Amino acid sequence: LLRLEKVDVRFGERAALDAVDLEVAEHEIVCVLGPSGSGKSTLLRVVAGLQRTDAGHVLLAGRDQSGVPTHRRGVGLMFQDHQLFPQRDVAGNVAFGLRMRGMGRAETVRTVAELLELVGLPGAQRRSIAALSGGEQQRVALARALAPQPRLLMLDEPLGQLDRGLRERLVVELRDLFGRLGTTVLAVTHDQGEAFALADRVVVMRDGRIAQAGTPLEVWRRPASEFVARFLGFDN
Ligand code: ATP
Ligand code: MG
Repeated sequence: LLRLEKVDVRFGERAALDAVDLEVAEHEIVCVLGPSGSGKSTLLRVVAGLQRTDAGHVLLAGRDQSGVPTHRRGVGLMFQDHQLFPQRDVAGNVAFGLRMRGMGRAETVRTVAELLELVGLPGAQRRSIAALSGGEQQRVALARALAPQPRLLMLDEPLGQLDRGLRERLVVELRDLFGRLGTTVLAVTHDQGEAFALADRVVVMRDGRIAQAGTPLEVWRRPASEFVARFLGFDN
């Protein structure tokens, strides 16, 4: 579904992405791991068309995306800080992309109800964003990202601010949800436990390059380098 070929992004002298090749198959859940500043968010922004590239190609369903604006790419992106609209209620946030696409009122109301059911917040339409817990806000952000039915859903630290117990529960729920919907997912996390629980495949980044890609088991059993081994917490 997604293919990156030798993608470079430079900020001055620094390469945020350096000849990155990556493929994500339909229905696959891929988690990107790596230290702060390794290029994870930049990678998602490039796929979403929010970040220019200096070289290389981004293909979605075989089509080169250069010049294709974000809203035409069919991708959903949930940011690191989920950026809900605090002045709108839950339904207003979830419906955001739907009304913009010209979905009628009755269908929007029905779709919002379904999405809230899906993320485990049935009946929360009229609640205000400020009155929700961090975990509930993450779920609303997820419902909003799922609303336009993106062919590729990208999540940047989707469970970022949450405590461990809640994260572990949500990861299991998300995996189940994506499986049922058949959603293709590219997710960034710096929590390897989360990545290993969620992903079909993990990608470990270092300094704008892919240090290793493989199934969680492969990467865990055979780290490709000392960097990967250290990053995974092996001491030697
Ligand atoms: P984190 O885990 O902290 O979110 P990350 O892996 O998502 O880190 P990126 O945000 O992709 O890292 O940044 C990769 C590199 O590119 C960093 O060195 C960052 O400082 C740099 N960078 C990112 N965006 C810009 C920008 N708009 N201008 C200049 N440098 C940038
Ligand atoms: Mg980031």
